[in-house]
Amino acid sequence: MHIQEHKIRQQLTGKGRNIQNEKVLNTMLSIPRHWFLPIESRHQAYEDCALPIGYDQTISQPYMVAMMTELLSPQPNHKILEIGTGSGYQAAVLSKLAGDVFTIERIEPLLSRAGEVLTRLDCSNVHLRLGNGHDGWPEEAPFDGILISCAPEGIPWHLTKQLKPEGHMIVPVGEKNHQKLHRISLHQDQWIEEELMEVRFVPMVEA
Ligand code: SAH
Repeated sequence: MHIQEHKIRQQLTGKGRNIQNEKVLNTMLSIPRHWFLPIESRHQAYEDCALPIGYDQTISQPYMVAMMTELLSPQPNHKILEIGTGSGYQAAVLSKLAGDVFTIERIEPLLSRAGEVLTRLDCSNVHLRLGNGHDGWPEEAPFDGILISCAPEGIPWHLTKQLKPEGHMIVPVGEKNHQKLHRISLHQDQWIEEELMEVRFVPMVEA
């Protein structure tokens, strides 16, 4: 096993960590995280933390990517919406587990850099769009799952309109430094809101 794979495995399954889904684990081990980083921070690619990718944004910590993916539980026939493409790392992980991934980013240079890396990795089922994630992607809705990689201050209930009844929305909610990861799901015609754990994401920009 490469040292990089060893590090990621340790971060996902070591002490206090509990990623159990084998498919998620194997996918995470197969994606070269350093490809998604600017040259300056590439040497830190396999550290157990989020890292800057420019434009005041970050690539998420591998454990957080794995955790959100496991909670979303993407299947080969699923259509997934991701909001906040950033480096494209989370989208790459989803692309290996889902049927199609639709990902929206508001910062053009990040989106085009992510697009290049995703092409190099043969993630041809990832579809990229420049825009405001609050609009979702109505032409492709409804989705089997929605994963939001940036933090709105409140639950974006309007996006549940683009979710299939059996789907989940995974979203970090709250003000800067005080966010909780939420899972939103429909249960007997009612939306259920679960608060899972404290997390730290860049804010979801409103407009
Ligand atoms: N999933 C990414 C994490 C990127 S950080 C990765 O794996 O690298 C979150 C991203 O959300 C940033 O790139 C930021 O520009 C983007 N973002 C914030 N608000 C947004 C909005 N309203 N619409 C679309 N993208 C948004």
